[in-house]
Amino acid sequence: MFSDRFLWEVFSLQCERDPMHLDIHGRFPISEATHPVSVPIVSIRLNELGWKPTYPKGAPYAVVVSHDIDFIYHKDQEIGPRELIISTLKNVLRADLKKIKHEYNRLNTKVVNRWPVERLMHYFQSKDIPTTYYFMCLDPSDQDYNYDIEMLKPLITQILDAGNEVGLHGGHTAYKSASDFIQQLSRLKKVTELEKVGYRNHYLKFNLDSFEIMREAGISTDSTLGFADIVGFRNGMAHPFRPYNYRQNSFYDFVEIPLIMMDQTFYKYMNLSQFDIRKLSNKIIDRVSEVSGTLSLLWHNTTFQGEKVQDLDYMIERMRDDGAWFCTPNELVEWYEKNDLFSTQMEYLQKLR
Ligand SMILES: [Zn+2]
Repeated sequence: MFSDRFLWEVFSLQCERDPMHLDIHGRFPISEATHPVSVPIVSIRLNELGWKPTYPKGAPYAVVVSHDIDFIYHKDQEIGPRELIISTLKNVLRADLKKIKHEYNRLNTKVVNRWPVERLMHYFQSKDIPTTYYFMCLDPSDQDYNYDIEMLKPLITQILDAGNEVGLHGGHTAYKSASDFIQQLSRLKKVTELEKVGYRNHYLKFNLDSFEIMREAGISTDSTLGFADIVGFRNGMAHPFRPYNYRQNSFYDFVEIPLIMMDQTFYKYMNLSQFDIRKLSNKIIDRVSEVSGTLSLLWHNTTFQGEKVQDLDYMIERMRDDGAWFCTPNELVEWYEKNDLFSTQMEYLQKLR
């Protein structure tokens, strides 16, 4: 159906080298994709050629669940000093001591833990599923700064001790600024003391030069490659792979675990009903399963509430019923390396050229 040469171009993101235009966030738009992104066309071809991975305990496919921790705290409505004086005077005149106390408390209690990460952690712990938490390591002056990574050290220790993984969630500029990327990475390394750090950029911001920054920074895995506005396979792959490096005409050393499904895609971008979310997620999981691939699912702590928890639970339980292997990015890479899956995959990919 597709020529091997075309599949190679899809895999190596040829159409993203010189895009006609970018979206409002500087991202490659789905409208510019040259292939049907709801089908893992490159992974299907690799299978046809004879490349098909196996997983521990005969699992039919792998699942990597991750969480971008954008926001934890919410600023309570603050009461300004002028309003406080006026209202205090009024309350004094009314002798309303209870109200005075309440308003002073409001002034003091500025932030609340609105989207606790612990809730998400307990949920996955109860199912014995290790997941990955990508934390932002921003400076207070950066866009979307919400927490100080150093203050989260006890939480991060708890996450790691429970067998999960912690990675960097790069800020708005990190994908195009090596110095911002490296600064944020060093903040995370200082807190976590981790050697191998995985990555995902905020808003899924990415361009082909980002791979060069990732190489320079020395991350072990990236999981940014996906479309925010649609679920599916941005470069036709439903498997982890070493990205192609156009500058060196070779493959990068780090591993890309393409992002296939994101909570916000269903709710914010596609605006689907619960019925359609379940139907679509089942189809995507089927397609990953058919090629013995890896389903990378992003679920934010801010989306872990209300009926949305049931949607997540529906997807997780379906994959558990399938006997899928739930792992972290580092565990997946270890498995692939131990079984020579990257080297054989690259051999087959080269055949497509
Ligand atoms: Zn984010």
